[in-house]
Amino acid sequence: MNKLRIDEVDHAGKTVLMRVDFNVPQNADGTVRNDMRIRAALKSIQYIREQGGKLVLMSHLGRPGDADKAETAEEKAEILRKNELLKMDPVADKLSELLGAPVKKLDACVGPEVEAAIAAMNPGEVVLLENTRFYGKKETKNDPEFAAQLAKLGDLYVSDAFGTVHRAHASTEGVAHHLPVSVAGFLVAKEIDYFSKVLDNPERPLVAILGGAKVSDKITVIENLLNFVDTLLIGGGMAYTFLKAQGYEIGKSILDKDGIEVARKVLALAQEKGVKLQLPVDIVVGDAFSNDANTQVVAVDAIPPEWEGLDIGPETIALFCDVIREASTVVWNGPVGVFEMPTFVKGTRALADALAENSQVTSIIGGGDTAAAVIQFGLAEKMSHVSTGGGASLEMLEGKVLPGLAALTDKPVTD
Ligand code: AMP
Repeated sequence: MNKLRIDEVDHAGKTVLMRVDFNVPQNADGTVRNDMRIRAALKSIQYIREQGGKLVLMSHLGRPGDADKAETAEEKAEILRKNELLKMDPVADKLSELLGAPVKKLDACVGPEVEAAIAAMNPGEVVLLENTRFYGKKETKNDPEFAAQLAKLGDLYVSDAFGTVHRAHASTEGVAHHLPVSVAGFLVAKEIDYFSKVLDNPERPLVAILGGAKVSDKITVIENLLNFVDTLLIGGGMAYTFLKAQGYEIGKSILDKDGIEVARKVLALAQEKGVKLQLPVDIVVGDAFSNDANTQVVAVDAIPPEWEGLDIGPETIALFCDVIREASTVVWNGPVGVFEMPTFVKGTRALADALAENSQVTSIIGGGDTAAAVIQFGLAEKMSHVSTGGGASLEMLEGKVLPGLAALTDKPVTD
């Protein structure tokens, strides 16, 4: 993608407005439970500081409620109490700890007091604005006036929040239109580079692994992937809709009724395009959706009526792992079993191991559940890239234009 990057523009003496994704998991008292997202932005943050820029950071955190919509005084008090826990103060403290430098937290995102605090900054200093979602629809509906007020705070814009680039919000998209230069931070640039390895000129064989619960959620992804992958491995909950479409009885396995017709079309399309679409050949079924369920391994044509498929079976694992071992590029979105339950983790774990063991492969792990699985297995470091954006990585694979990326400044054309 031909967008200007953080290290291609000058930051010295400039006030740099940077959107980060500090939407971190929190403890009950609001403190930061997991600082991975903060760490992911450190490279860009340190770079601006070293270059002598003044850094203004902004992010959303959680989903603040709208106290004006409360019907009773108690409801209102409860919303306000919860919103209090979504202030950015604990995030600023954690960032300060990681940087080993003070981070001043401001109590608003826009307005004269914010502007005055920023005007008083020295090069290398960092401030963090208040939660952008406290501005409700002004933020989420991309209000141009709010975007312009945000833009007043900086000389240029850096987007380093990959997890939100698929959303056209004021702080992720609108703001970029009000500043002369908007660039991709290191994290966003890295994400773009890895997804380009899948989408633009992949080393082949290119394999996609798709899992997760429902077919309908991922139709567009599947359709787009069929245009350029060599092999598509389908596991997880969505596999049962495909098996049903092929005429198998699937017992109590998860079925996406609206997806049956889609699955039929996808199977035909794969054949037409010469893509090998591999479904499970055997299944680990359970007699309940529970880690304590009784289990058995059955062939796909022998799923008992009262049982449900919760993981891929050993023959399928062997088949899928063979494909992974031969692959040069693998993109993976969606666990192939209910990996959260140890009884049904084996399939997802085996595919992750096979990927980790293939030293030739470029492996790109979609965000969300798949990233969580790989991290849980302690294999994140063995993957070429673990995406920080679940929704954004899916939309990349759908071939969509992501508004937060489209809004960035194009690189100048050179001969
Ligand atoms: P998604 O958000 O659509 O990617 O779905 C991810 C979820 O699908 C994970 O939480 C898995 O536990 C779940 N999942 C994977 N395989 C199955 C299955 N066979 N039956 C039900 N849920 C599944």
